[in-house]
Amino acid sequence: MSYTGHCACGAVTVTLEGEPFGVGQCWCRQCQRIAAGSASNNAIFQASQVTTTGDLAVHTYPAESGNDSIQSFCAACGTPVFGGSSAMPHVVAVKLGIIEQPHDLRPGMVMWTSEAPAWAVIDPALPQFPKSPPIPAAEVS
Ligand SMILES: [Zn+2]
Ligand SMILES: [Zn+2]
Repeated sequence: MSYTGHCACGAVTVTLEGEPFGVGQCWCRQCQRIAAGSASNNAIFQASQVTTTGDLAVHTYPAESGNDSIQSFCAACGTPVFGGSSAMPHVVAVKLGIIEQPHDLRPGMVMWTSEAPAWAVIDPALPQFPKSPPIPAAEVS
């Protein structure tokens, strides 16, 4: 399987070879800021599975873990494209919104529920974590 995707303006394109090793939904405040108040949804790939074209702008900030969270956006239109962590440069969290439909990728776990707004609708069937779960996906949302 492979996936393709692009940002809202089309200047950034991505090609994803193979399957992600998971999809996480993150309600942390930083994700709410880039996701219009909702959660971010992130398909976690190895960097070697991901190719991209176009100019990305990068915003880096300190995560609660003490590592740097690295967020990449289309430099032209601002669409969130990738998340990442300084602790795991070989892992890329691809923002689900940029991946072309149709596909079957969907969140398999939910993190940072402690920061979700009162109106958030969170699938009760999914594993939930009030903050970062004890798995690497937490670092790269
Ligand atoms: Zn763009
Ligand atoms: Zn987050």
